[in-house]
Amino acid sequence: MKKKNEQKGINIYWVYGAIAIFFIGIQFFNSFSSSTEKITKNEFLNEFLNENEVEKVVIVNNEFVEVYIKESKLNKEKHKGVHQIGPHYYFNITSGEQFEEDLKEFYITNKSIESYNQINVDVEIRKDIFGDMLGWIIPLAIMLMIWIYIMRRMSGGGASGGGIFNIGKSKAELFDKNTNEKTTFKDVAGLEGAKEEVKEIVDFLKNPKKYTSLGGKIPKGVLLVGPPGTGKTLLAKAVAGEAQVPFFSLSGSDFVEMFVGVGASRVRDLFKTAKSKSPSIIFIDEIDAIGRSRGKNQITGANDERENTLNQLLTEMDGFGTNHHVIVIAATNRADVLDKALVRAGRFDRQIYVDLPELSERKAIFKVHTNDLKINKKLDLDFLAKQTPGFSGADIANLCNEAALTAARKNKKMISREDFLEAVDRIVGGVERKNKLMTIEERKIIAYHEAGHAIVSWMLEHAAPLVKVTIVPRGKSLGAAWYLPDERQITRIEQMLDEMCATLGGRAAEEIIFNKVSTGALNDLEKVSKQAKAMVLIYGFNKKIGNVTYYDSSGQETFFNKPYSEDTAKTIDQEIKKIIEEEYVRAKKILKKYKKRLEELANLLLNKEVIFREDLEKVLGKRQWIAVEKININKFRKK
Ligand code: ATP
Repeated sequence: MKKKNEQKGINIYWVYGAIAIFFIGIQFFNSFSSSTEKITKNEFLNEFLNENEVEKVVIVNNEFVEVYIKESKLNKEKHKGVHQIGPHYYFNITSGEQFEEDLKEFYITNKSIESYNQINVDVEIRKDIFGDMLGWIIPLAIMLMIWIYIMRRMSGGGASGGGIFNIGKSKAELFDKNTNEKTTFKDVAGLEGAKEEVKEIVDFLKNPKKYTSLGGKIPKGVLLVGPPGTGKTLLAKAVAGEAQVPFFSLSGSDFVEMFVGVGASRVRDLFKTAKSKSPSIIFIDEIDAIGRSRGKNQITGANDERENTLNQLLTEMDGFGTNHHVIVIAATNRADVLDKALVRAGRFDRQIYVDLPELSERKAIFKVHTNDLKINKKLDLDFLAKQTPGFSGADIANLCNEAALTAARKNKKMISREDFLEAVDRIVGGVERKNKLMTIEERKIIAYHEAGHAIVSWMLEHAAPLVKVTIVPRGKSLGAAWYLPDERQITRIEQMLDEMCATLGGRAAEEIIFNKVSTGALNDLEKVSKQAKAMVLIYGFNKKIGNVTYYDSSGQETFFNKPYSEDTAKTIDQEIKKIIEEEYVRAKKILKKYKKRLEELANLLLNKEVIFREDLEKVLGKRQWIAVEKININKFRKK
């Protein structure tokens, strides 16, 4: 369809082009169709005038002179090529006056020419109406073409679009019975709670009486909130596939245009169309593009257009009663920035939180996305789900695709567990860079650094269990220790401290073995500093600071208005440093105790480059933690 439209657009421009070429062609033809021969002024004076062959001359437009030859002389050999009817020749001049001066001078110098033989000189001003017209028609036509082109682009309709007059119309895509939207709730894995709620919306629209008979009201809006890639759009698409009612889908940014009032007009148009097709659903993706809190940028006024759009949305959502049966579903990653008026009950009555998937949900998502893949029958989806904590649905979809590509690269017939693991590494750590240049000394430092992490985490009760350790450079990192963190909802002090201690194990190992430290621990230090800062400033884990948090969930706290005094700032600094130093000392203590095993593990790493949990067990024995290194968490408790 689009192709056809584009074709039509091209045709219009062909027509414009053909008209322009036609006009230019006529002009071109006109100027060359005359049979008058061109000569020079000297030829005219010496060969024609001197020979007394000229009947008369006409100075035209002060630009050229037309020469008429006497009839009696036309049969001469040199005039053979010219027509019988004059003008027979022409030549260009700089000005008519100058030509007459030249003529006079010629008569004076050539006394042989009798006065009665002197020729008549006429002057004519001729109007080239056609040429004059072309002079303004062509620029006008070009301007017209440019204007039409811009208008078409602005209306977003391409060559066949509805023109500038459609700019205020909503850009919503309509899915109804006739469209082939095949997504159903089966395609959405996990998200049971969210699915239940949106299924109810579908039911509201299909059987409104069931709900309204008891006096209840059908909700007007549902807000899907959650991190990127968790399946909000997918859920909405499934509603479209299942509801069997018209479903208008568009993104918040589709309302925004550079013209004032367009956004509001599009909102009005969208609701008008949706109401006319009621019962129906409107889906607005990324609603934060228009729904951000109003009034924060009063000085610049830059937000006026967005605010108008939002106001119109608020008005429209108020405007339709429950009998209209139009439900608005919106999705956002940032519910916190939305205007309070938008999320109040009565507009978006329901907020559905779509969180990152848990273990069982990840397994279900793997199931959906491996359905069409040629996977090894032995592939354990539980194992894959365990390996991917923190992955969103979109990440898992990407991982499955990446695994398929990895297997294809190796010309395999089936996708196996290794391909999935390689894809995890690639997604989390970046592309492998085996040929990165490194000195032997550098490799040794990296091996000890990673072995340090491995040993310390192995010996601590609350540190996350290790999955594998590698010294193959990937992305920006030169080596890595991969952990499998618990999926916990709350974290206790001892868990944070053990994790910090394991993170500092890398630098501690470098110091113990080489008696020097390197820049390789930058990421570790950043992570540990953030954790220590959070313990003191956010979670109230520090005895000296007490049960105080300086965290502001509204995000209005700035660098300039620190909520604590200078004295407290000093204490905060000291306490953060103290926590980190204590953990560093603890890590060193563990490594000194197991120095032999540290060396053994580092050598194993240098040989094999990648070692797994099983290899660690061989070197370190079954995982067990030692009482000596347990921390005295009482020191964090207030007396
Ligand atoms: P964003 O907030 O960035 O727009 P989103 O939450 O709308 O993200 P989707 O666009 O719905 O995320 O998800 C992207 C892709 O991830 C989907 O097309 C689908 O392939 C996959 N996906 C996400 N969640 C799930 C799920 N629960 N089940 C199956 N596939 C999922």
